Amino acid sequence: MLTCQQASQLISQSLDHPLSWYELMQLRLHLMMCGACNRFRKQLNVLLVGLRKIRTNIENDSAIQLPLDAKTRIVEKLKSNQHSQ
Ligand SMILES: [Zn+2]
Repeated sequence: MLTCQQASQLISQSLDHPLSWYELMQLRLHLMMCGACNRFRKQLNVLLVGLRKIRTNIENDSAIQLPLDAKTRIVEKLKSNQHSQ
């Protein structure tokens, strides 16, 4: 049985790369029994969806009057943050 710390690490890792079959099974087992980690996973998903929306808005919103290179820098920064969390 995973500890909550191990489970939350796996949840974070799963955003960067697919988990192994064994990791996935352990995580699912933990999530079935642990409300706290379920909430953590949901909050992380909400955060990610929000980040993606912001990124899409910046990329597509012509009303945002920024120099093109500034827009690109912001988008790149959001992309790299998304990967490191
Ligand atoms: Zn837990």
